[in-house]
Amino acid sequence: MSLLVVGSIAYDTIETPTARRENVLGGSAPFFAYAAGFFCPVQMVGVVGADWLPEYTEMFQKHGVDTSGIEIVPDGKTFRWSGKYHKNMNDRDTLETQLNVLGTFQPKLPENYRRAQFVFLANGAPSTGLAALEQIQGADLVAADTMNLWINTTRPDLDALMKRIDGLVINDSEAMMLTGEINTITAARKVSAMGPKFVIVKKGEHGAVFVSEYETYVVPAFPVENVVDPTGAGDAFAGGMMGYIASQQGNLDGETIKNALVYGTITASFGIEGFSFDRYKEICRSDIDERREDFRKMTSF
Ligand code: AMP
Repeated sequence: MSLLVVGSIAYDTIETPTARRENVLGGSAPFFAYAAGFFCPVQMVGVVGADWLPEYTEMFQKHGVDTSGIEIVPDGKTFRWSGKYHKNMNDRDTLETQLNVLGTFQPKLPENYRRAQFVFLANGAPSTGLAALEQIQGADLVAADTMNLWINTTRPDLDALMKRIDGLVINDSEAMMLTGEINTITAARKVSAMGPKFVIVKKGEHGAVFVSEYETYVVPAFPVENVVDPTGAGDAFAGGMMGYIASQQGNLDGETIKNALVYGTITASFGIEGFSFDRYKEICRSDIDERREDFRKMTSF
């Protein structure tokens, strides 16, 4: 099985109420790819500049992520994003976005990526996702993420993308923005009517909801006591979820979907315990399974 992700690769500057980190590895594709890498082999497509550190390529390769789809622009600078978290560590403000090489990114998929069975179009311009899809034949499952920026600035592209995907993973405020609906389930159904067969609405520390025509599943968030940096939690949730589905050969029965939601939740819960990839680098699949078992005990009645 093969799981492909296309998305941003970034150097992030993060401010929390108690700490600040400059130019740490971030971006939607890396967080997704590393999380999915706990479950299955991953192929990552993105663009970086001359400031890309080879140690990151090595980190991904060691973790089962194929990096041959990362384009390095020799005279360019990697995308930069900076954000500041509020006291509640859930809400944040974007302080700065420097698109750099991401601004002109045209994804070119290596030949062996074009038959990927599972595809995730992580946060980035919808036109990038559409350009990647043009190069992929016969995927079993295509899902995507989006954000307020694209909802506000590139709605026609986003509408076209939604007609080409099986699933959309968005957060509650984005679902509201897309539909004008305050109720999560009503909003998810309206988003589904725009194209995707299933919609997963992430609600931060309140968990996530999966909605399709016939099914609704809810999963609470794992209660993390020491939240250090929530950046990338949404991408890691999607990575754990899609990685698990790919590891089950794309079986989409109810049990597999529920397990995928739980694995997404548990994988993301580790990432927020450290900045950037600090915490992920300390753990392996057995840590995820152990926490999954704790979660099962907490949530079975
Ligand atoms: P999340 O916390 O899951 O929303 O993901 C945060 C990641 O998204 C950060 O590492 C950022 O580098 C990346 N990001 C922020 N803004 C954008 C954007 N406009 N396009 C693509 N990626 C972005």
